Amino acid sequence: MGIHASPTCVMHFNESTGWLLGKPNAGLACMFTMMNQARLGVGLQGHGLSELAWQASIAYANDRLQGRAMSGVKEPGKAADPIIVHPDVRRMLLTQKAFVEGGRVLCFLTGREIDSAHLNPDPQARQASNDLIAFLTPIVKGFLTEAAMEVTSLAVQIHGGHGFIRQTGVEQLMRDARITPIYEGTNGVQALDLLGRKVFGTGGKSQQMIAARIVDSIRKFGGMPEIAPLAADLGRRLEQWGRLTAELGLAAKSNPDEVGAAATDYLHVSGYICLAWCWLVAAGVAAKKLAEDPNDDFYTAKLVTARHYFSRILPRVDSHAAAARAGSTGLMALTADQFAIA
Ligand SMILES: Cc1cc2nc3c(=O)[nH]c(=O)nc-3n(C[C@H](O)[C@H](O)[C@H](O)COP(=O)(O)OP(=O)(O)OC[C@H]3O[C@@H](n4cnc5c(N)ncnc54)[C@H](O)[C@@H]3O)c2cc1C
Repeated sequence: MGIHASPTCVMHFNESTGWLLGKPNAGLACMFTMMNQARLGVGLQGHGLSELAWQASIAYANDRLQGRAMSGVKEPGKAADPIIVHPDVRRMLLTQKAFVEGGRVLCFLTGREIDSAHLNPDPQARQASNDLIAFLTPIVKGFLTEAAMEVTSLAVQIHGGHGFIRQTGVEQLMRDARITPIYEGTNGVQALDLLGRKVFGTGGKSQQMIAARIVDSIRKFGGMPEIAPLAADLGRRLEQWGRLTAELGLAAKSNPDEVGAAATDYLHVSGYICLAWCWLVAAGVAAKKLAEDPNDDFYTAKLVTARHYFSRILPRVDSHAAAARAGSTGLMALTADQFAIA
C-alpha cells in the first residue's frame, strides 16, 4: 500500500538454530529497549509525513484558483481567488499546522528528556526523565501517527481531485502514513501499554507526574493575559483527565475488559492534553516575544494556531472521554456469530 522503497517481505526461520544472546529470561526486556526506540522512530516518521503533507497543502492553497471569497473578491486581476481565502480551507490548513507544530514540540520535549535520562548527573533527575519517556512513548507513537493519518488525509482533501490522483504526490503521503499506526506495535497495543502498564501499572503515579509538569507550565505562563484563557482551559482538562483515570482504575478492578474497552479513547484524551501542553508553552513564549515586537509574523502565527488548537481541536477530549467511560458491556454483548448478521 505504501513505503514502496522499503523491501518488505515475510521471513520464515524454519529448522533454524538460535543462539542465546545475553542472560536467560532477559530477552523480552532487551527487545523492549529496541522496541521503545523503534516506537519513537515511528512517531517521528508519522510526524515527518505530516510536515510534508502540510507544506504541500500550503503551497497548493496559495496557488489553486477556485471560487471567490464570500467577503468579496480578493484577486480581481485573476479568474478566481486562491482557495486559501475560503474559511473551510483555512480550517483544514490550521488543523494541519496545529498538529504539525504542536507535534514538533512534543518530539523535541521527548528528545530533551532522552538526553536528560542519559546525561543528567543527578540520578533522581535521570529517573524522572526515564519515567516521563516511558509515559510519552506510546503517546508519541500512537497519537502522532493518528495525527499523521488526519493531516495527510486533509492534504488530499485540500488538493481536491488533484490530491486523489498521483500528479501532486500527496496521495503517496497518505498511503505511506497508513503503516505508522500498525507497525512496531499497533496503536491498539500502544493504548493498552499506556493505560494498562504505564498508568495502572504505576497506580496512576505516572499520569499524576506528567500532570504536575503541566501544572508547572500553567503556573509559568498562565499569568499573561493572552495565555490565561488557554491556561484555565488546560487546567480544567487536567482535572477531567485525573477524574477519568481514577474512574477507569476503579472499573478495571471489577472487570479486566474495561481496560481494553477504554484504552484507545484514553490514549486520545492523553494525546490531546499533552499536545495542549505543548501549545500552551509555545503560546507563552510567543506572547512574551510579541510584547517586545507586536508585528512579528512568526510569533503571531504561533498564537493564532494555539488558539485554533484550544478552540477547535482540544474539545475532542470530551467525546473521547465519554467513549472511554462507556465501558465494555456493549462491546462484549454480541457473540462472534451475531456480528456477521446484517
Ligand atoms: C510494511 C511492514 C513492515 C514491517 N516490518 C517489520 C520488521 O522489520 N520486523 C518485524 O518484526 N515486523 C515487521 N512488520 C510486522 C509488524 O510489526 C506487524 O504487522 C504489527 O506489529 C502488527 O502485528 P500483526 O500484523 O501480527 O497484527 P495482529 O497482531 O494480528 O493485529 C491485528 C489487529 O488486532 C489487534 N490486536 C491484536 N492483539 C490484540 C490484543 N491483545 N488486544 C487488543 N487488540 C489486539 C491489533 O491492534 C490490530 O488492530 C512489518 C509490517 C509491515 C506491514
